[in-house]
Amino acid sequence: MTSAVEQLLLPAECLLCHALLAERDAGRVVCPVCRHRWRAVRPPWCERCGQPEPHFGPCRLCAEWPAALTVVRSAVWLTDGAREAVHALKYGGLPRIADDLAAAITGVTLPTDEASVLVPIPLAPKRLRERGYNQSEALARALSRLWRIPIVDVLVRSRETATQTALTPETRLANVAGAFRTSTRPPPTAVLVDDVFTTGATLAEAARALEQAGARTIFGVTFGRAVIPDFT
Ligand SMILES: [Zn+2]
Ligand SMILES: [Zn+2]
Repeated sequence: MTSAVEQLLLPAECLLCHALLAERDAGRVVCPVCRHRWRAVRPPWCERCGQPEPHFGPCRLCAEWPAALTVVRSAVWLTDGAREAVHALKYGGLPRIADDLAAAITGVTLPTDEASVLVPIPLAPKRLRERGYNQSEALARALSRLWRIPIVDVLVRSRETATQTALTPETRLANVAGAFRTSTRPPPTAVLVDDVFTTGATLAEAARALEQAGARTIFGVTFGRAVIPDFT
């Protein structure tokens, strides 16, 4: 319903460059040209967290992650148009753009051929009320259609957390500690879905809750990966 209303109200032009969308792209929010401009995250990277490795030695970013969280990948760098697209998903009240972001995530390869399910990162109840929808869930739904694997909502927020913006990797971890719990027993293999990866603190904490509830192998995918210039 929301989607149908959106389509009626919005002109068929690209959200980012305002070019008119071709008929075959009428269901899209972002045109193919703008989607091709998104810069894919590519190796060499840390095999576990997918962060490019500019230095020798063990990766500091994923060192403290729970053991069950084995592979996390992001589709594109969160620059320019990609940042604007996430902003539209999060704050623009435009959940339909999730289809475009999910299509980019299908370029990501996870080492799984086991039967797995998608688990969206839940939003705090207060933010869910303000926004009207959970952007990670919108993304997971779109991805579920493309990858043909089901969604299971097993995670809930156990407490409100401060906004992660402008926190260092260490304070981000402390900020989300104990933020999630499970509502039912999770499946043995799960793929966490979130819109943006910054330091991985949120995914790690969500994985911790799944692991404690019995999940054995957890992967994570996000659409965007933030560039952290002060993190080496
Ligand atoms: Zn465009
Ligand atoms: Zn790593």
